[in-house]
Amino acid sequence: MNNDIEKVLYTQDQINERLDQLATTITNKYQNEFPVLVSVMTGAMVFTTDMMKRLAFKLNLDYVDVSSYDESSESSGQVRLVQDLSHDITNRPVIIMEDIIDTGHTLHYLKKLLADRGAKSIEICALLDKPDRREVEVEGDYIGFKVPNEFIVGYGLDYDGLYRNLPYVGILKRSVYAD
Ligand code: 5GP
Ligand code: MG
Ligand code: MG
Repeated sequence: MNNDIEKVLYTQDQINERLDQLATTITNKYQNEFPVLVSVMTGAMVFTTDMMKRLAFKLNLDYVDVSSYDESSESSGQVRLVQDLSHDITNRPVIIMEDIIDTGHTLHYLKKLLADRGAKSIEICALLDKPDRREVEVEGDYIGFKVPNEFIVGYGLDYDGLYRNLPYVGILKRSVYAD
């Protein structure tokens, strides 16, 4: 599995250190807010569980699963809800937990959905941001790291269902998906 990685971008230690920093910032802000943490499956699973252990305030955990209408054409921009929330978020502050912001279509869709449900506020916490690829304007409120325009795997992020269990974030070798 490690042989398929071109380059490690962030080690487990570097991720842990960054998560500590982000969690301190978020904890200061949400002390008396009682937000709902909405994790976007499946990529944000690892990030969400590691982050939430560091958040020192009352919260509810929830998740959604979304998928692109046409998986083959990446930039179709059509997003569909596959698994809905189980919490009523009316008047609740919401923090969306995402693995990576790429074109921005997923989070654009989710922000609108959660706003339509009456969320009191919506913030985005993403492990990674690939700003070069943005097609719609979406900004993360808490970002772990900016990454180059390469295909990233590990720490929850997959290629074809694989590599999610890597404890670090890295660039996948092109030879793995080129043919
Ligand atoms: P967006 O809607 O912002 O284009 O992309 C959202 C989703 O695409 C992410 O949540 C993630 O699942 C997937 N994605 C985007 N870039 C990458 C990447 O470099 N590696 C992996 N594994 N998934 C990505
Ligand atoms: Mg995702
Ligand atoms: Mg994926």
